[in-house]
Amino acid sequence: MKITIHRGQNQIGGCITEIESGSGTRILIDLGHNLPEGDTPSEDKYDIPENMDELLKGCSSVLYTHYHGDHLGFAAEVHKRGIPQYMGRLAIDIMQHLNSRMRHAEALRDQAEANLEALKDFRELVRTHKTVIGDIGITPYNVSHSAPDSYMFLIECDGKKILHTGDFRDHGYLGKGLSGMLNKYIIPKGIDILITEGTNVGQPAKSIVPENEIQQEFHRHIRKYKNVFILCSSADMDRLWSIYQAHTFSKPLVCDSYQKEMFELFAQAYKDSEYLYRFDCNRIYDYKANNTKLIEWMKDRGFTMLIRKSDKFQKIIDQVMPFCKNDETCIIYSMFKGYITPDHKAYNDSLFEFVKQFSNFEYCHTSGHASKEALESLLCMINPNDAIIPIHTESGIAFADFNLPEHLKERICVENVISF
Ligand SMILES: [Zn+2]
Ligand SMILES: [Zn+2]
Repeated sequence: MKITIHRGQNQIGGCITEIESGSGTRILIDLGHNLPEGDTPSEDKYDIPENMDELLKGCSSVLYTHYHGDHLGFAAEVHKRGIPQYMGRLAIDIMQHLNSRMRHAEALRDQAEANLEALKDFRELVRTHKTVIGDIGITPYNVSHSAPDSYMFLIECDGKKILHTGDFRDHGYLGKGLSGMLNKYIIPKGIDILITEGTNVGQPAKSIVPENEIQQEFHRHIRKYKNVFILCSSADMDRLWSIYQAHTFSKPLVCDSYQKEMFELFAQAYKDSEYLYRFDCNRIYDYKANNTKLIEWMKDRGFTMLIRKSDKFQKIIDQVMPFCKNDETCIIYSMFKGYITPDHKAYNDSLFEFVKQFSNFEYCHTSGHASKEALESLLCMINPNDAIIPIHTESGIAFADFNLPEHLKERICVENVISF
């Protein structure tokens, strides 16, 4: 068996892991695009068709841990070449929803149409159910991440067992279940090779607060300010649940039709859940300029409104701001701070200007990725027999500085191509 880490040992984004069995079955785990820098789209070697042809030659399937663009970036290109693609049901639905919206923007229409064609043919991954491709078995296990329906994969190939973590964390709402899941399903199998994300290897642990503390921070701001605008991802179900739980329903919770449909998707997917993600969509209002009843309520009691940086939302803000007093109004910025930090490589000038229009600024965010301590504990729990391969990290070699037993340090492997 051969494992090729095409990208990810010294960059976050454009994640591609290839596994080839001794008999020649070749699969890819994730095929992501390089992350954009600031507000300009990034370049990627796989934007060139010849490079994509070479990567996909003889490839049996592409399986995605989740739908973030740094993991799922070329679905239409894979589809064009007739290669099956697999992902979780809710993740497929979210991408269909997103691309149906993108179709309305002239510049994005062709790409959105091609993506929708590809998504129609996506096959479903079902958690804890093994999918067999040639002589490789892949079983997905649900994990907490800033994208719902994210998975770790247990991969069985040539008698070896590989755990590919995808993107994960232990501090989201589903994070509490991580060690139980590992103990029940993964550790008894005996893992030989651990391929793990390492986004936060260089981050101080204290910057990573649990999602339920973020919920409490939202609650404080929502009580302090009458009018609250929240800039956050429309598809981060954990964050939306934090906001929903923090909101006081004496005032309206407002969004737009796209976000409302997203809430409906989540509510439907979790309708049988006992507690988590049980959004009551009748209590979430889709803003329309002619809904005078809603607007009067907003004027009277204030509101919590989810916003995005777009022309559509700028129009809504321009309609709403005239009845909001400055000292009673704030924006809660609930995304990665680098986007609005001028000396950061991800800095986005137009986003910074958008945020600046509000006189009161609050920050409420935590990482979608495991802390260094969570990674150390995962490595010790899994205790792989052969190798630990870091991916999705700016510094694979930083794993060598982890607080780990010596025998695990010796198994850290930062080669691009590894044969077993
Ligand atoms: Zn992700
Ligand atoms: Zn990622």
